[in-house]
Formats: sequence, C-alpha cells, structure tokens
Amino acid sequence: MHIPGVLTRHDPTGQPAPVLFDSPHSGVMYPDDFKPIAPMELLKTGEDAFVHELFGAGPEKGAILIEAHFPRVYIDPNRASTDIDPELLIEAWPEPLNPTEKSRLGLGLIRRLAVPGVPVHGKRLTVAEVRSRIDRFYGPYHQAVGGAYDELHRRFGKVWHINCHSMKSVGNAMATDVGARRPDFVLGDRDGKTCDPKFVTLVRDVLAGMGYSVAINNPYKGLELIMRYSDPGAGRHALQIEINRALYMDQERIVRSPGFEKLKGNLSSLIDAVVDFARRQ
Ligand SMILES: [Zn+2]
Repeated sequence: MHIPGVLTRHDPTGQPAPVLFDSPHSGVMYPDDFKPIAPMELLKTGEDAFVHELFGAGPEKGAILIEAHFPRVYIDPNRASTDIDPELLIEAWPEPLNPTEKSRLGLGLIRRLAVPGVPVHGKRLTVAEVRSRIDRFYGPYHQAVGGAYDELHRRFGKVWHINCHSMKSVGNAMATDVGARRPDFVLGDRDGKTCDPKFVTLVRDVLAGMGYSVAINNPYKGLELIMRYSDPGAGRHALQIEINRALYMDQERIVRSPGFEKLKGNLSSLIDAVVDFARRQ
C-alpha cells in the first residue's frame, strides 16, 4: 500500500510472521499547505530521521513495515486526536478537547514549538485546517496500523508490534528529563500494559547482549500508537522502542553518521530474534 505523501506499507517479501513495525515520525515530505515560520533546520530536529531505514530489513524477514511520509510537526500520529492545544486554534473546537502534558510542552497533535521558545506557526489555525490534517494524514496512518493488526490477528491469532522512534541524546526543555543524558535505547510498554512482559525481556536482552544500555519506561513509556490497538489478553502486543540518535546520526546536520550501518546490522539481528520469538508463541 502506498499513499503518496502519507505512508507506505511494506508487505513481507519473506515467509510472513505475526510481526508489525511502524515508523510514525521519520517522514520528511512537508505538505504544501504547511506554512511554518520556524526555520526548516529547527523543524527537522523533530524528525526521527532514518528510523524506517534502520528497520528496513523487516519485510524480508516476514514483518510488515509501515512508514509515515509526512513530518510529525505537521500532525503527530502518536497522539490522541483530541490532544490539541486550544492556543493553536483561531476558533473553538466543536467537540471536547483533552490537551495533555504533551500539548503543554508544545508537542501535542499539532506541534506548537519547533524547539523551546520557537513557535512552529506564525498564525493560529482554523478548525478546517486541523480537520484536513486529521482526515488526510492522521486517519489513513491509523487505518493502516489498525488494519495490519486485524489482518495479522485474523491470520495468526496474535500480533507483535514494535512502534519505532528515535530520541535526542540529551533531553531539551520540551522533554520531561531536561538535560539528562539518555541510554542507547528506551523501551516503553506503558508500565506493563501494552504487551506480554516476555516481549520486553526479549528485546531488552537482545539489545543488552549487543552491549547497549537499555532503560524501560523512563523517560518514555509510549503513547497512542501502542495504546490504541494493543490488547495483550487477546494476543495483541505493542512495544515502543526509542533509539538514541547519537548511535546513528549527526544530530546537528541530520545526516547518517559512520555508526549507521553497524546499528542497522544490529537491528536486523533484533528483527530476526523478534520474528523467531513471534513464530514460537
Ligand atoms: Zn518519535
């Protein structure tokens, strides 16, 4: 499935397994109606750059891989559709909103700040503008993820989903861990709510065995994309992975660093382990 400017779903080229990867924040196609005043080099620091490439071996090993093409500063699929900061709007939203801590930090459904102190937009948005972003980008992305869950569950009776992200190596003032140096990986399962604990243990042990430092649920527990479709009791398991960008990119220039290929190779081995695990369950 390919929706230009919105998403691509890469289907398995190898023997299919009940495994799904999605990369919601690595999109770099800025839509024509996006008119930010923040400079592009600051907006681009919000991208989880190259994450879909890091997990690119998924389909040949039997997994589905969904990648967003739009940037998360335009609309963020990893938020509830009601996580809107009313300050962004020129008029009242017609239904009740539920802005969370993420909206307060400038990181809600529609991003308010590019980096601390730098607004994304030069003017407030109309309800129609935000609705259009939901209908054309957010909605199709969620339909793709939800649809993949349903297909895998129908075929295998289970789904093992990894929601893939990357994080700045040090938290800025828009993070909950300002100034903290971060581990190589942070796994999130909403404190045990979104997957079988065996899945967290598997991924943690594989990464730790490669020499990486791994934290769990701190500072990231995971959000909408692991909450909305998971139901461990019904065989639907979701885990978030945050990768420290210092492992694979130059965070100033947003280019791949010499570490990229090594990390990609290690993640390819992780995918093997996840697919093996999923087939055995
Ligand atoms: Zn992300």
